[in-house]
Amino acid sequence: MDELSDADLERYARHVILDEIGEEGQIALLEAKVCVVGAGGLGSPVLLYLAAAGVGTIGLVDFDRVDRTNLQRQIAHTDAAAGTPKAESAAARARAINPAIRIEPHDVKLTPETVERVLTPYDLVVDGTDNFTIRLLLNDACYLMKKPLVSASVVRFEGQLSTYRAFEEGPCYRCLFDAEPTEGLVPRCDTAGILGPVAGVMGTLQATEVLKQITGLGSGMVGKLMLFDALDYSMQIIRTRKNPDCPLCGATPAITRVGG
Ligand SMILES: [Zn+2]
Repeated sequence: MDELSDADLERYARHVILDEIGEEGQIALLEAKVCVVGAGGLGSPVLLYLAAAGVGTIGLVDFDRVDRTNLQRQIAHTDAAAGTPKAESAAARARAINPAIRIEPHDVKLTPETVERVLTPYDLVVDGTDNFTIRLLLNDACYLMKKPLVSASVVRFEGQLSTYRAFEEGPCYRCLFDAEPTEGLVPRCDTAGILGPVAGVMGTLQATEVLKQITGLGSGMVGKLMLFDALDYSMQIIRTRKNPDCPLCGATPAITRVGG
């Protein structure tokens, strides 16, 4: 793509007017291929903002069905969609916002057997899941496939955000959170609760970070971990480091293939 069409210039006028984005940045967004994993509390705002921003190809992975107990925060879905596949429901919303881009729903469970096939067409992956096993799987697959991973998590009134590009620099997710936590020790939204808009705050930051990774705008979240607490609105950014003994990205890796 050499230049934006008249329709693109109309739709993305408020991006193009930003010197830091311009026509070049918008073309980079239109040419980007991003895979959003999870069409839930984080995935909803991520997907809607990426679609609105004109990320040209967006994959959306979720094998679950829309559940009314989740509509308090999963704003990509409507009440009428309850019981239908989440990937399709959220894809329909994103297409309604921006019919000019490509939305690819994947109603599939990510496993060591499926993850490479699903992620292969994309250049960047967004982790919006709430499951530690899937987080590790995505981390390993993205590292081995050399794809940046923009990761966020939320529970109760708190959220975290980081970007992992350990194949180039910085730590991977395993460097920071390696040991599989004992079942029940990690609070999850379905058991510990979540204040709905906290997922919106973190998902919106995650979408911002995706646009920054694609356009090179400002400084990104590689080698940093953001900690947000809605109770006092505190936001902290701490430096993170590679673990030299990391089983994935360390000096003598034990994990050399996805699921291995
Ligand atoms: Zn690592």
